[in-house]
Amino acid sequence: MARLPAIFFGHGNPMNALEQNAYTRGWSALAAGLPRPRAILAISAHWYVPGTHVTAMQKPRTIHDFGGFPRELYEVNYPAPGDPELAARVRELLRPVDVVPDERWGLDHGTWSVLVHAYPNADVPVVQLAIDEMLPPAAHYELAKRLAPLRDESVLIAGSGNVVHNLHAYAWGRHPAQQFDWAVRFEQRARELMNAGEHEPLIDYEALGNDALLSIPTPEHYLPLLYVLATQQPTDTITYPVEGGDGGSISMLSVRVG
Ligand code: ZN
Repeated sequence: MARLPAIFFGHGNPMNALEQNAYTRGWSALAAGLPRPRAILAISAHWYVPGTHVTAMQKPRTIHDFGGFPRELYEVNYPAPGDPELAARVRELLRPVDVVPDERWGLDHGTWSVLVHAYPNADVPVVQLAIDEMLPPAAHYELAKRLAPLRDESVLIAGSGNVVHNLHAYAWGRHPAQQFDWAVRFEQRARELMNAGEHEPLIDYEALGNDALLSIPTPEHYLPLLYVLATQQPTDTITYPVEGGDGGSISMLSVRVG
C-alpha cells in the first residue's frame, strides 16, 4: 500500500464551499491527483475544545458553525459516512492520551467547506479529531507524530486552517485586498522553515516575533498545520499546491507533505 501524503488546506472564508475559484479548483485538482484514500482524518481549526476528542459515529452530521452567511450556506449537506474503526485506531495510536469518542459533533465547516470540492461525492468516510485547547503547540506536534502510521494505512490526514489568520485585520466585503506586509513576510518565513524541514521554530512560533503574532493572534487555525508537519517522514518533499491570500490577512496556502 502506497503511503499517502498529509495535506494542510488553507480553508479561508466559509463561502468557498459554494464558490468555484482558484482555491476550490486547486483543492479538487489536488484530491484528483491522489490515490483514493480509505478514509480521511480531518483536523479542523473549528473543533478547538478542552480535551482530545474523535468523532466515532456512523453518520456525522454537517455542522453550520458560523453566523451571518447566506441561507444557501446553511443548506449545505456533506453526507460522508463516519468510520468508527478509524476512530478506534486513532484512540489506540494516541494512547496514553485519553481520546474521547464523540457522538455529538460531526463535520464542521473547516472540514466540509474543503471536502465538498476535494471529494464532492462524499463517498470517503471522514473522522474528525479535535484540537485540545489546553495543550501547548509542542504537545500537539508530539501527539500528531503518532498519527503518521495512518498514512501507510490509506488514510488521508487533512489539516484545515490557515497559516495566516487575522480576522481583525480582514477586509470584509472589500475584495480583493492586497495582503499585509506582515502576512506576506510570515508566510514566506513559514515556507522557508518548512522547505528546510525546520519544525522547531514553527512549533515555537511566538518566538518568531511580531509578524507571527499578527498572523497567529489565536492558535486554532495554525495548529492543524503542525498536525500535518508532524507526520513528515525523511523521504517526504514539501510542496504548495494552492497559494494565495484573502482579505489582506488570510493566507490560503495549502501544504502537501509527501
Ligand atoms: Zn476557519
